[in-house]
Amino acid sequence: MPPKSAASPNPRTAAIERRGLLLVLSSPSGAGKTTLAHKLVASDRNIAMSVSVTTRHMRAGEQDGRDYHFISDPEFARRRDAGDLLEWAAVFDHHYGTPRKPVTDAMVAGRDLLFDIDWQGAQQLNEQLPHDIVRVFILPPDGKTLEGRLTTRALDTPEVVAKRMQKASSEISHWPEYDYVIVNRDVEESHANLSAILTAERLKRRRQLGLTNFVRGILDTL
Ligand code: 5GP
Repeated sequence: MPPKSAASPNPRTAAIERRGLLLVLSSPSGAGKTTLAHKLVASDRNIAMSVSVTTRHMRAGEQDGRDYHFISDPEFARRRDAGDLLEWAAVFDHHYGTPRKPVTDAMVAGRDLLFDIDWQGAQQLNEQLPHDIVRVFILPPDGKTLEGRLTTRALDTPEVVAKRMQKASSEISHWPEYDYVIVNRDVEESHANLSAILTAERLKRRRQLGLTNFVRGILDTL
């Protein structure tokens, strides 16, 4: 019989099977959430953006399939009624929703997903997948900064900006429903904090499905 250690996985190199987590970022518009989301995805190989469907028009610089899947109202209704959306909500007169299949596929494959969705979406995801979701709320350092970011973004008409300002305070009121809160004073610092949250959540025992086997492998070599 070969020595035990030859037949067992090397505990230092064996990958531990894990279940992917769902990292949800919410904030009022203009708090820097999108910038933070892009930074995290660029810096971490095992997390990707969940691409939502939306009925709103594409903005300059956006790309279909990358920023959103831009679909019509009837197509949205069809997907929602067929149960293809894990969650959905009306935000600023348009519909937004998360396609179900890419989420379940990612979790099973041990890949993490990042969601840029509002509090309504966070609530629904939490009802459906309470053990897989990690909710982070991004706050602006103050109201003036938020207003400044909304008006200098120049992506929307003044009417839309005014509407977003009105909505900001009601969105902020949902902060207690989140697991973590980051005050976005400095984007590098916020990015480091977000990465730290992701690292800690990945290490939660219940997400490391392969731990039992891994520990058995260690014990076999003792
Ligand atoms: P925007 O039109 O500026 O891209 O997004 C407007 C709001 O809709 C943002 O607060 C964003 O987080 C939210 N949102 C985007 N996609 C989804 C989604 O799939 N579900 C929900 N519930 N909200 C979304």
